[in-house]
Amino acid sequence: MTAEVHYCRHCGEAITDPDDAVYVGYEHGNSGPGWEIWAHRDHADLLEPDPVATRILAHVLAERAFSRAADGGLWSPAAGDW
Ligand SMILES: [Zn+2]
Repeated sequence: MTAEVHYCRHCGEAITDPDDAVYVGYEHGNSGPGWEIWAHRDHADLLEPDPVATRILAHVLAERAFSRAADGGLWSPAAGDW
């Protein structure tokens, strides 16, 4: 049985110590299955947020902004109007 080796998303190095591997998230492939994202414990905090979740959040915020603009409302992120 072969142990699965994960590669750090931040530095690209193999994570040889299983206790040092931190599961960061799951990335969907454009075609076929996606893959898990791992990082060294020390590097997990340095990673960008999950790109999929960020994209969805940006989409939701944009939809909200456009729908308010269509209503004639003024959308102001500076005013905390999310
Ligand atoms: Zn690393």
